[in-house]
Amino acid sequence: MRDGDWPDPPASPESAAFVEAAREGRFLLRRCTACGKAHWYPRSSCPFCLGETAWEEASGEGTIYSYTMLAREDPPRTIAYVTLAEGPTMLTSLVDCEAESLAIGQPVRLVFAQSRNGTPVPCFRPVEAAEPSQAGPVP
Ligand SMILES: [Zn+2]
Repeated sequence: MRDGDWPDPPASPESAAFVEAAREGRFLLRRCTACGKAHWYPRSSCPFCLGETAWEEASGEGTIYSYTMLAREDPPRTIAYVTLAEGPTMLTSLVDCEAESLAIGQPVRLVFAQSRNGTPVPCFRPVEAAEPSQAGPVP
C-alpha cells in the first residue's frame, strides 16, 4: 500500500506519546521499571509482572518471525510478526518488498507509513543484503 492508504490506528491516551514521537521519526517502546522487559503494544502496566513501565526509544531493528501475503486485499499486502531487537514481537506490515523474496529470520528495519488521517503507522522493510565478498570493489 502507498502512504495515505493505511487505516487510521485507534487513538488512546496511552498512544498519544507514541504518535507524537513517531511524527518525529522516533519509535518508542515501553519497558518495565520492575522486571526490565520491554513489550508491545505500549501499556502503562507491565504484561509480565504488572509493574510500572516507561517509554524508551527503540532501535527499529528486527527480524521476521512469520509472515503471510494477503493476496485478496486491494492492494495486496504482506503482514508479519516481527521480533524487535529489544525482545517484543509485534504484528505489523512489510513494505517495499515482494512476498516471494522474504524469509523467516530475515533482518528488517522500521519505516513509518502514513494512515489516511496522517497518523504514522509502524511498518518494516527488508534490510538490503550485503554484497557477496567475491564481487570486489566497485570500479
Ligand atoms: Zn515487569
